[in-house]
Amino acid sequence: MSNHLLIVEDDELVQSLLAAYMQNAGFNVSLAANGKEMLACIDSETIDLVLLDLGLPDEDGLVLARQVRARSSLPIIVVTARKDQKDRLAALEIGADDYLTKPFDPEELVLRVRNILGRAEGGGSDEALREKTEFFQFEGWSLDTGGHNLSGPGDRKIELTRAEFNLLAALVKAPNRVLSRDYLLDAVSQDSDAPTDRLIDVLVSRVRKKIEKNPKKPTIITTVIGCGYKFSAKVT
Ligand code: CA
Repeated sequence: MSNHLLIVEDDELVQSLLAAYMQNAGFNVSLAANGKEMLACIDSETIDLVLLDLGLPDEDGLVLARQVRARSSLPIIVVTARKDQKDRLAALEIGADDYLTKPFDPEELVLRVRNILGRAEGGGSDEALREKTEFFQFEGWSLDTGGHNLSGPGDRKIELTRAEFNLLAALVKAPNRVLSRDYLLDAVSQDSDAPTDRLIDVLVSRVRKKIEKNPKKPTIITTVIGCGYKFSAKVT
């Protein structure tokens, strides 16, 4: 079964280039030229991953990404001409899984798509296969690093983006140790020009909202001022 990608892009030339690359790489492809078509396609078809342009005629891609993320963990890669760090940060904050600026290297895009899909399926990519399955439990939560699952009290499944999951896994694996933002950045991103400190702060606050009883007074992921973050819950 090949994976099904949705390409959201209003520039016809870029759209057909992207479609050709992705079909060549063995993916099924659907196309949308604006936000309305994108949402209709997600509702009517089984999509495995969205490649999302930000500058669309009817709606800003960031707004669309937020709408998608509000109802599912469908992987999103933003592919955009916007090079501003603020846009990159905003996209990751909303929960996009990756961010690539135009002009992009199509081979790199295919690799990133495969990497994210491999993780989403809990296998497939080399990286996912190398990773040993481990289970960690803390405060009623259980984290399965092989299956990339987090379940809450009462077996409630929690959706985490790839970056959120990697951040939480890095923290859980080193309980009671202060981890610097640089260390955590290496754990969550292969992207060497990702915005540094702020990205980690944003991800920590997203994860806190999902797992802390009171995200404003966190007891699981605590801040060590001037140093970084610490996983303070007991891990079994
Ligand atoms: Ca555009």
